[in-house]
Amino acid sequence: MTAHLPAASGSAEPVSASGGPTTLVTGIGELVTNDPTAGPGPLGLVRDAALVLAGARVAWVGPAARAPVADRLVDLGGRCVLPGFVDSHAHLVFAGDRAEEFAARMSGQPYAAGGIRTTVAATRAATDEQLVANTARLVAELLRQGSTTVEIKSGYGLTVADESRSLAVARQFSTETTYLGAHVVAPELAADPAAYVALVTGPMLDACAPHARWVDVFCERGAFDADAARAVLVAGRSRGLGLRVHANQLGPGPGARLAAELAAASADHCTHLDDEDVTALRDAGVVATLLPAAEFSTRSPYPDARRLLDAGVTVALATDCNPGSAYTTSMPFCVALAVREMRMTPAEAVWSATAGGAAALRRTDVGVLRPGARADLAVLDAPSAVHLAYRPGVPLVSGVWKDGAPRVTAWAAG
Ligand SMILES: [Zn+2]
Repeated sequence: MTAHLPAASGSAEPVSASGGPTTLVTGIGELVTNDPTAGPGPLGLVRDAALVLAGARVAWVGPAARAPVADRLVDLGGRCVLPGFVDSHAHLVFAGDRAEEFAARMSGQPYAAGGIRTTVAATRAATDEQLVANTARLVAELLRQGSTTVEIKSGYGLTVADESRSLAVARQFSTETTYLGAHVVAPELAADPAAYVALVTGPMLDACAPHARWVDVFCERGAFDADAARAVLVAGRSRGLGLRVHANQLGPGPGARLAAELAAASADHCTHLDDEDVTALRDAGVVATLLPAAEFSTRSPYPDARRLLDAGVTVALATDCNPGSAYTTSMPFCVALAVREMRMTPAEAVWSATAGGAAALRRTDVGVLRPGARADLAVLDAPSAVHLAYRPGVPLVSGVWKDGAPRVTAWAAG
């Protein structure tokens, strides 16, 4: 659609898909497009690159020397630009924290799913305003670290009213909202899990489906078994929700194969997989979303990304941001962990944190920089995306655009 655009040196017209003002972002030392037609490798790297943004969309991508003119110009002085991170797994609607539990665990106590109930009690006791404020704080943290798309789950309410208000809060911050009433069995129904599944697949689903795009279930010992998880997912699907599964986090189990059986968009965690699980995920086209911050924060063995990649499974990376097992909003931290601990190359980890997350959300307009994609960019105070893993813990994200608007502009102050 943009076969031959005029060069900046000519008498060119600004490129505009929207009719509004255009911005030429140039001086990009390395541009990660994730578009293999734009440059070498799966990252589609372009050196000495430029982008034209028109409204909320990318209008042009290519070498700076061939860039068209635009209404405004931003020169990044050789910095690296990549698509904004797509964090496809986050639990952001909650109250309180569990720092003491973390400290206890680091003192030798094992992680168990039951700790979720501490946050459930705090979340139920919080006002709507407190939930909105905490979610806003976390979304701002994510953005500051380069994440421009975030999936947000419910799952700390576990009543009809608390789950639906959690999703109403989530909806204020993202279109990627996920109904996770089946996080754990609500404490008041602990003696009757079947009654809780009936609630989750009945009145709670009725209240939550209008606010949600996805349904998710924690299919794990101590949470929901295969039959209960299948019932939750099938009920959600009948209401038009896409499917995601918390699978095989704490031990071997049926989650990954259930995700494959139902052709879910994503199976998340995937820490304890056997060969059949891996084959089933690949054959069903289910994205394996790996959440290494959870293993980091629970001092647990990491999932084997190399094995999944070598088998041909699409791998995404996400934060799993939650107050119990992974209280980070940093996708750069997850990229560094994936490279150091999960045998991913830096390029694979960057792809999985951007295009992989988009695949896990079945989005083609984010996680990629090509004409027509959303103008969501992360700017690194570094010459290449390798630095995300090479310089762990360093706040390299120095600029963020979302929907074509600069939201974080630290590079201008530098
Ligand atoms: Zn999770």
